Amino acid sequence: MSRIHDAVIVGGGYAGVVAANRLSTSPALTVTLVNPRPSFVERIRLHQRATGSYDATVPYREVLAPSVRLIVDTVTRIVADSSRLELASGVELHFDRLVYAVGSHAATPEVPGAAEHAIALSTLEQSDDLRHRLESLPAGAPLTVVGAGSTGIEVAAELAEQGHPVTLLAGGGLGPSLHPSTRRTIARQFERLGARVLSGPGARAVAVQADRVQLADGRELSSARTVWTAGFTVPDLARRSGLTTDASGRLVTDEALTSVDDDRIVAAGDCAAPSGRPYRMCCASAQPLGALAAETVLLRVAGDAPRGRSLALPGQCLSLGRRAGVMQLARRDDTSLRTHVGGRPGALIKEGITAGTLVGLRTMARRPGLIPAMKLLQDPRRAALLAAPGAPASGSVAGSPVGDVTGLTD
Ligand SMILES: Cc1cc2nc3c(=O)[nH]c(=O)nc-3n(C[C@H](O)[C@H](O)[C@H](O)COP(=O)(O)OP(=O)(O)OC[C@H]3O[C@@H](n4cnc5c(N)ncnc54)[C@H](O)[C@@H]3O)c2cc1C
Repeated sequence: MSRIHDAVIVGGGYAGVVAANRLSTSPALTVTLVNPRPSFVERIRLHQRATGSYDATVPYREVLAPSVRLIVDTVTRIVADSSRLELASGVELHFDRLVYAVGSHAATPEVPGAAEHAIALSTLEQSDDLRHRLESLPAGAPLTVVGAGSTGIEVAAELAEQGHPVTLLAGGGLGPSLHPSTRRTIARQFERLGARVLSGPGARAVAVQADRVQLADGRELSSARTVWTAGFTVPDLARRSGLTTDASGRLVTDEALTSVDDDRIVAAGDCAAPSGRPYRMCCASAQPLGALAAETVLLRVAGDAPRGRSLALPGQCLSLGRRAGVMQLARRDDTSLRTHVGGRPGALIKEGITAGTLVGLRTMARRPGLIPAMKLLQDPRRAALLAAPGAPASGSVAGSPVGDVTGLTD
């Protein structure tokens, strides 16, 4: 009988769970997942946990195939040369195959006072911190949300719907990745909720104190609690471990998600930079990337060459409180179309997709063989993008093609 390989997944988010379940279908692998918490965190619901409408944690036994071993710990170093992981507890773990799926978190704000006084919303602990700090607020105390990307929009709407006076600072624009028509729909919903949106360069926060926020144009806002959602980054584990990363610290891979340094290591989710050109950080890309990373491992273990594949995202969905939402449709290169569904229908679609994500993970846990049926939508434009001037050089990196049009779009 051929040798059994130890496959270890670092990080049990959307990408890591999908990869672990898919790998568990192989009799040639033992599968271990390392994650710092004993529960799966539905990160896409953390704004609801912060405002108390949803728990957002699920026991791993509900989303992981029974044969996947869970180790509750944190990987502190990947020692690729000796095929081992160092864990925070002092334990060392051997690996033959590694899936790097450590996700993302809020970047430390550089604005004076923000790191001390503002509250981020990217992890379970930050979400609980925000909830506790909201509980101790007097009624009518003003809140400020800094950053109007999707997380800022979702949390600001959730807070406003609960009756808090909210100001959303959209210094970089309201929903910059959305179509202007979708932005108008969102702006109207904020009006209905009684929330104030301040847009434009003058609305950038330049200093934060315990009870106020100072703006670039000199205005000062009274703010009993300031929520900071401007900027996400990734853990620096890959960089600290001497692996090739992009400027943000994402692991640089080929289009089959294989590390450019070591073909036993693949990456998936927010922490992966295929061809140095990462996808938008989102659950919608993390899951198919988890499936693709697992496929690459399975092909290599079977002695076959992995296929580079590009991924197309169908759009993005945002909640605007519990009673409204928007579903933004996009082209296959992730640029937004005018077409979107707003209001109550938008909320129903958003809730359906969010709830369906968890149903999907639970179903995969019981029937991990279903995962290959998750057809990856292909993005033909990514091939063109990678072939464009300034794109990563064409050629074989760690055994599979980068910048090879056929390899990208099959
Ligand atoms: C409030 C909020 C709302 C969002 N809404 C949406 C949405 O509507 N739609 C959407 O598509 N996306 C949304 N996102 C983004 C989405 O949550 C992320 O893009 C997605 O979770 C990425 O999945 P992942 O598997 O790459 O990483 P994660 O889900 O972040 O999981 C990574 C896991 O790795 C663990 N980990 C980290 N370091 C280590 C280590 N050293 N050792 C072991 N384990 C480690 C982490 O603890 C975590 O459990 C939202 C995010 C937030 C914060």
